[in-house]
Amino acid sequence: MTTILVTGGAGYIGSHACKVLASAGYTPVTYDNLGTGWRDAVRFGPFEHGDLLDRARLDEVFATWRPSAVMHFAALSLVGDSMKDPATFWRANVGGSLNLLEAAVAAGCRKIVFSSTCATYGDHDGVILDENTPQQPINAYGATKRAIEDMIGNFGQAHGVRSVIFRYFNVAGADPEGEIGEFHQPETHLIPLMLDAIDGKRSALTIFGTDYDTPDGTCIRDYVHVMDLVEAHVLGLKWLEDGKASRVFCLGTGSGFSVREVIAESGRVTNREVPVIEGDRRPGDAVQLVSGSRRATEELGWRPERSTMGAMVADAWRWHQNHGAHFRE
Ligand code: UDP
Repeated sequence: MTTILVTGGAGYIGSHACKVLASAGYTPVTYDNLGTGWRDAVRFGPFEHGDLLDRARLDEVFATWRPSAVMHFAALSLVGDSMKDPATFWRANVGGSLNLLEAAVAAGCRKIVFSSTCATYGDHDGVILDENTPQQPINAYGATKRAIEDMIGNFGQAHGVRSVIFRYFNVAGADPEGEIGEFHQPETHLIPLMLDAIDGKRSALTIFGTDYDTPDGTCIRDYVHVMDLVEAHVLGLKWLEDGKASRVFCLGTGSGFSVREVIAESGRVTNREVPVIEGDRRPGDAVQLVSGSRRATEELGWRPERSTMGAMVADAWRWHQNHGAHFRE
């Protein structure tokens, strides 16, 4: 069986990727320092505990498993933290990725699928974003991801590393079979915080800004179901296995939802009241992040069929009710 090294396989997106890789016949080997991930989330392949900053440990894991490709999810990702402590972000994200790429090349592994982000674009004032939109990140998190994209490109030129880079929009939902789901500590994302408010784990959801220049005054995002997102990664892996050239793909559906629209849909799906407080804007938030790209559907054959707001909230809600509280044990 073909082995794939999955950095960050104990995290939200990485653990879902391991599930689809295993069901597509691959062996996903998780490499994770459990800094923000959960040992419990590693259910679909072997686990190797380790840090990207530990080059000797990376070499050992490459030698043990001889992966044919790397899926690189591991990163620090809280935008607010990245602005307070950029050094830690640059060290972990950029330094860690540099170690990973060097270890991969030294082991003869030259295929990488990388998690990048629409946070590399910055604020484009309502423009619909695609792969050719200039990358002007407005926070340190986005800056580190853009730097890693550049680094991967340079390793391509120098060492023949081929890559598929995915720029994610907002990822939501959970495994519909309920085995894994979203669990961050601390939680900062809209949908899980709202589900906490709906079932009384927090008193209310604060809407971050109601005076934006949008139809209802709240920010607009393009939400993708986590299962659709990780299916794209398997297609990206096959793209590389077919010998195709390095390529960047945006992963969004092209439909924007405002914060108020997400709240309304969540109330409908859960059939509960959503207690909300109208609060101030959150620093670093772009007004609107929506993908206008069709490249992933046209070139990879990606079909984000689960990515309706109703399905994302329903799957997240099922996970939240059945497993969320026990995930850490
Ligand atoms: N948001 C909000 N209240 C919250 C968390 C998020 O109003 O408690 C808004 C946030 O301002 C943004 C959207 O919900 O417009 C999605 O935020 P999230 O943190 O989930 O993802 P981001 O877009 O920052 O990656």
